[in-house]
Amino acid sequence: MKELKKIKFTHTASQKHWVGDGFHVYGLLRPLEEMNKFISPFVMLDYASPKEFSTTNQRRGVGEHPHRGMETVTFAYQGEVEHRDSSGGGGVIKPGDIQWMTAGKGVVHDEFHSVAFSKKGGIFEMVQLWINLPKKNKMAEPKYQEIKNKNIPTIALGSGTKLRVIAGDFNGYKGPSNSFTTINLYDIISKINNNISINFKNDTNTVILIMAGELKIENKIFKDKSILIFEREGTEINFKVSEKFKGLILNGEPIDEPIVSHGPFVMNTKEEIDEAFSDYQNGKMGRL
Ligand code: MN
Repeated sequence: MKELKKIKFTHTASQKHWVGDGFHVYGLLRPLEEMNKFISPFVMLDYASPKEFSTTNQRRGVGEHPHRGMETVTFAYQGEVEHRDSSGGGGVIKPGDIQWMTAGKGVVHDEFHSVAFSKKGGIFEMVQLWINLPKKNKMAEPKYQEIKNKNIPTIALGSGTKLRVIAGDFNGYKGPSNSFTTINLYDIISKINNNISINFKNDTNTVILIMAGELKIENKIFKDKSILIFEREGTEINFKVSEKFKGLILNGEPIDEPIVSHGPFVMNTKEEIDEAFSDYQNGKMGRL
């Protein structure tokens, strides 16, 4: 039997902050204790809404820093992101591409606008999502996946609406990403007003990010830079999108384990966080 998932929390961002000097973001998901239950396995989401950067010979971004116990997934929408990590992963992702970095037991990486984008300048837009790893996979070997737009199944939902399956499954279409958690990641771009219905497994967490346009659900209208977090119960979400809509849908089976997140590390205990800091300082996560 189908049952609608109801909205649990909503939040509309008002203030941006800088991550390094390249990413001017709205911080929309954080692993606060009361939220984790409804967003796990997702930990954090930053949205760098469209912003114009002038031409420069110096790349803007974030220099060398570590991660452990989680995965960072970067979605390039406009502009180009370049990444390098201590496990040998790296590359440039272009609009529509996705960069999936599994930190596992630890990597050191940097994240910059690409050299070509920096020289040319222009509009930059991206999302960075952090996905938690289950306790049993936190110390997995680091891994890097570069997911090209052309390899992402794109499904037409009517004539002017497209849904991309980045990870997981949508009506039998499988996303190209490998993940440690059972998740579905979709993005939706619509040129027209459209009614959309998506099915999910019961007892899973679901988050919708609105990047552009408006979304109507439960007789309320939500604008861009809003995030909707749903109840775990229920198997279906119905909503209406406006013209020029762009959104990201996250769904996943929650990891029901304690979470202690500090800076770039996402672990299960405070002791493991302390250990991560000391391992990083002692060079055990490698060097660039
Ligand atoms: Mn990082």
